[in-house]
Amino acid sequence: MKHFIDKLWREHTLTAEEYRALLTCRDADTWAYLQHRAQKVTRSRFGNDVFIRGLIEISNRCRNNCYYCGIRSSNRSVARYALTLETILKCCREGYAAGFRTFVMQGGEDPAQTDEWVEATVASIRREFPDCAITLSLGEKSRETYERFFRAGANRYLLRHETHNETHYRRLHPAGMSSTHRLQCLQWLKEIGYQTGTGIMVGSPGQTVAHLVEDLQFIERFRPEMIGIGPFIPHRDTPFAGEAAGSADMTLRLISLFRLMHPDALIPSTTALATLVPDGRERGILAGANVVMPNLSPREQREKYALYDNKAAFGAEAAEGLKKLEERLRAIGYSISKERGDYKRSD
Ligand code: SAH
Repeated sequence: MKHFIDKLWREHTLTAEEYRALLTCRDADTWAYLQHRAQKVTRSRFGNDVFIRGLIEISNRCRNNCYYCGIRSSNRSVARYALTLETILKCCREGYAAGFRTFVMQGGEDPAQTDEWVEATVASIRREFPDCAITLSLGEKSRETYERFFRAGANRYLLRHETHNETHYRRLHPAGMSSTHRLQCLQWLKEIGYQTGTGIMVGSPGQTVAHLVEDLQFIERFRPEMIGIGPFIPHRDTPFAGEAAGSADMTLRLISLFRLMHPDALIPSTTALATLVPDGRERGILAGANVVMPNLSPREQREKYALYDNKAAFGAEAAEGLKKLEERLRAIGYSISKERGDYKRSD
C-alpha cells in the first residue's frame, strides 16, 4: 500500500482502484506512514504555521431542510436568530484586536438576509478592515449574487459539496436540492475568482467507500483552494437522530490523502472533529490540516447555531480562547500564524 501513498505524494493523483485500496486498507503501519508523509508535506510547505479564521455564524434561519442539519427549516425547537450588521462589525473588531485577519461569515440560507443586505455587510467589513480576507459560507445562490458579493469585497467562499454522488446526495437532502446544482455553484464561484472551498462530511448516512472515491476524484479534478473534511455527527431533532457518527480515524486519513493530493490547499482541522474526540483539533493538524476556525460569534448566540449535538464553541474552539489554542498547538510543535493566509500555489 505504501507505494500508492508515495505515488500520491509524487504525482498528486491515483486511480479509483488505488484510492479504494487505500481507503479499505486495515493495516495500521500504512496509516501511520500516510500521516507521516502528509505531516512532512505540510511542514515543508507551511513550516509550523497554523492559520486562524474567525467564524461568525450570522444566522441560524434556513429555507432548506437538509436531513442532517440541526438548523433545518422544519426543526421547531431551534430559537432562531440573525445578527445585525452592527453586531457582525463588533465581532470583527473583537477578532481584529485578537489578531484575526480572516472573517468567515457562515449561516443558513436566510431569506431575510437579502442579497442587498449581504452585499452591504461585506462592503462595510471591506471598508473597515481593508487588510482582512472575507470568506462567505452562505449556501447556494445565483451566479449574479455570487458576483455581487465578490465585487463588494468577498475573497473566499466555502460550499461543501457534501457528496458527489447524486443518489447519495438525495439520501441527505429533500427533493428540490441536487448535487448537480451544488456543483454548478462551485463552478461559478471558481470562475468568478473566489478562493473556493469544498468538502464532505465523513460517515454521513448511506455513505460508502465508492462514494468517498468519487469525492476524492472530484476534489482531485476541481482543485479547490480549501478543503473542509469533518465527521458527520447526528443532531437529536433531525431525521438522522439515531444514526451513528462518522469515524474520526477515517476523517484523519482523508485529511492526509487530500494533503498529498493538494499540497498547497488550506485544510481546516474542523470543529466537528474537535467535537467528536477531545484531541481532534490536534490530531487534524498532525494529519496534515493547517487551519483552525475559532468561533467569533456573540457568546449568547453560539448554542443556537447547533448543526449537530454538543457542537464545540467554547474554550480552545472560541476566539476568546486563542491563548488556550496557542498552548495546545505549541504542545504538538505548531504555532498560530496571524497572517491572512491566502492560498498560494507553490509550483
Ligand atoms: N448553509 C451553508 C452553511 C452550512 S453549515 C451551506 O449550505 O453551505 C456548514 C457545514 O456544516 C455543512 O456544509 C455541513 O457539511 C456541515 N454540517 C451540517 N450538519 C452537520 C452534522 N450533523 N454533522 C457534521 N457536519 C454537519
